[in-house]
Amino acid sequence: MEQFPIFLNLTNFPCAVIGGGDVAYRKASALIKAQAELTIIAPKICDELVELVQQHNINLIQKNYDSNLIKDMRLVVAATDDETVNAEIYQYCEANKILINTVDSPAYCRYTTPSIVDRSPILIAISSAGMSPVLARRIRATIESSLPQALGEIAQYAGSLRSRVKQKFKTIEQRRMFWENFFSSSIVSRFRQLKTEQKEQIVADLMNGETAQGEVWLVGAGPGDEELLTIKALQKMQLADVIVYDRLISQKTLDLARKDADFICVGKQKNYHLKQQEEINDLLVRLAKAGKKVCRLKGGDPFIFGRGGEELETLVQHQIPFQVIPAVTAAAGCASYAGIPLTHRDYARKVVFVTGQNSKEGDHPDWQALVRPYQTLVIYMGLTRADLIKTELINHGMDKNMPVAIVEKGTTPEQKVHITDLNGLPQLAEQNKVGSPALLIIGDVVKLAGKLNWFNPDEVEEGSSTFNTYIKP
Ligand code: SAH
Repeated sequence: MEQFPIFLNLTNFPCAVIGGGDVAYRKASALIKAQAELTIIAPKICDELVELVQQHNINLIQKNYDSNLIKDMRLVVAATDDETVNAEIYQYCEANKILINTVDSPAYCRYTTPSIVDRSPILIAISSAGMSPVLARRIRATIESSLPQALGEIAQYAGSLRSRVKQKFKTIEQRRMFWENFFSSSIVSRFRQLKTEQKEQIVADLMNGETAQGEVWLVGAGPGDEELLTIKALQKMQLADVIVYDRLISQKTLDLARKDADFICVGKQKNYHLKQQEEINDLLVRLAKAGKKVCRLKGGDPFIFGRGGEELETLVQHQIPFQVIPAVTAAAGCASYAGIPLTHRDYARKVVFVTGQNSKEGDHPDWQALVRPYQTLVIYMGLTRADLIKTELINHGMDKNMPVAIVEKGTTPEQKVHITDLNGLPQLAEQNKVGSPALLIIGDVVKLAGKLNWFNPDEVEEGSSTFNTYIKP
């Protein structure tokens, strides 16, 4: 270990920042946040520091550095732009047992400041011992996004319950059990949504020995690229006891979920349902009733052709709490990664999402509405109906040369974009060259695909040419 981590209580602890620029401002703000007794020493200070001095109780000494000015200090930050002065400050502090940090000079530091994730009272500090502050900041960003925003409030609330818990449970083991249940309860997962009375009720139930109530999170996993997950989706995946996922969810996405969660695949592929929808609904109810936190992970957005609504209706019937986490839907993901803007001032002012599968026999789409001008048509699950789609769109007035893109396995390293026109659509689909899942984008915006192509997985993966990705008729 290069350095020893400590958290310092700065109340009544005289601290000085020497310097008057941006960096001095950042250091001074951090010290003020921690209630330091602060002196700023600089002949001239920047506007932000002027404002800080006006807003807080800060002693400003508008002079050049002189060791006399810091003799009573216990912590000093040297932030002048003169290396010789910084070195002098360091030497004085070392000789006089004052903690010293010199900005950007690890050799002149007795202490360094870590990157922090602040969910006070929870504070996480990351240090690279001054070796690579940028790396420490990146690690901080990763941790920042994986922790719920309400973490500090949750810790505060837990703190307010401590004496009650101590009174109620006599042994350490009983208290530990209570806290384990508390932190698995919906108080943590829904802290900001629950009213005070509801939190109190949950605490009362837990105190009476009831285990935490289960709940279901209907989470959209996006179209494929696991980096398109939302921060909230990731948090839910890491909190869940059970992940109930569709076949389209990639292994890389699943790898981001809590390692010791149970994983249940419920299939969902045309003509090949591992589990029927009712079975899935029942499974969710059963798991939640057993007190589990269930992450129901679905491809794309759960409310777009995902039957998410039906799964939730069953939960409502059984009074099981749930949340819905939206996501990038296939149309948005595939279009972006294929370089096809779904709307464009010259080509399309409207975009329509339709499914190629009808839920009931004889249920036909309103073809007339699908052929309007200046409109982009996105068809989910349309590949097996390519022939019908072509015939009906042409019969209802669409130009047979209208450009069509079939985006196969969009946003993944295996993405392929096949460009054709309405006339050529069935041949392309029939040649069996297009794998699943695939999305049809029909409209003049498809003309832009060649020009705006930026995501070229074949090139990235194997150094081959663009044409592997853009397969033209
Ligand atoms: N809820 C999902 C859609 C589920 S329907 C969403 O919002 O995206 C399944 C259909 O979505 C597939 O048949 C295909 O048409 C489309 N789809 C999903 N992911 C896709 C991908 N990565 N590439 C191409 N099409 C995709």
